[in-house]
Amino acid sequence: MRLTILGSGTNVHPTRAASGYLVRTDHTILLDFGPRTLTNLLKTGVNRHRITHILFSHYPADHFSDFITYFFDAMIFTKYQRGKRPPLTVIGPRGTKRLFRTLFATLPGFMRAPFVVHFKEVADRAFAIGNTTVIPRTVTHTQNLHCLGYRIEYGGKALAYSGDSQYCDSLVRLCGDVDLAVLDCSFPASRPSPVHLHAGQCGQVAREAGVGQLVLSHLYPITERYNVREQAGEAFGGKIVVGRDLMAIKL
Ligand SMILES: [Zn+2]
Repeated sequence: MRLTILGSGTNVHPTRAASGYLVRTDHTILLDFGPRTLTNLLKTGVNRHRITHILFSHYPADHFSDFITYFFDAMIFTKYQRGKRPPLTVIGPRGTKRLFRTLFATLPGFMRAPFVVHFKEVADRAFAIGNTTVIPRTVTHTQNLHCLGYRIEYGGKALAYSGDSQYCDSLVRLCGDVDLAVLDCSFPASRPSPVHLHAGQCGQVAREAGVGQLVLSHLYPITERYNVREQAGEAFGGKIVVGRDLMAIKL
């Protein structure tokens, strides 16, 4: 299994794309699709028309907006350039079907895309994509949003992605004994937010879950001024990496 970070920042950030991750198992899967991550996807050399599954944690623009550009491109490719692509399955939390039905009914041409698109809402139950096991888990973020973290298992390895999350038991369970955890490190420990983890809590989750390697991601611009690796390291003695765009990690 291979993870490539497409975006390690947030919605508006001078040097980082927003949330997005490419996971290669027996399938090519995207986790979130925030602004500027599509440009980074092109830089990986992966054929974007072979992506079969996009998993969303939730739908604020910083996790979602490049989907619109991606899908418009896929329509042009299949409609006017005689391109072929496999069916696309979009998976996400509660509200996924309503959101995409509304979008597709409104955005010009989206309903008439000449390839199959499935929308699937998931909660806390494992499912398979080929030989890849995906375990979504509801995490606590903001009060009115259903937000998911994902655990992906393939070839005897496991990775976890927090989505956007506060510290919660469910996140610790999601990350239990994974080889690699990518956690929402929006803020430094000294500037905590009520709805995101801070660097110290990322370390705490990694320690409690027995994570192999911790990747700090989803950095807000202000967070660049602090040593988040050191802050996370106060709680977690394992390997800690501050994520950056296009960083690739093999599991
Ligand atoms: Zn976010």
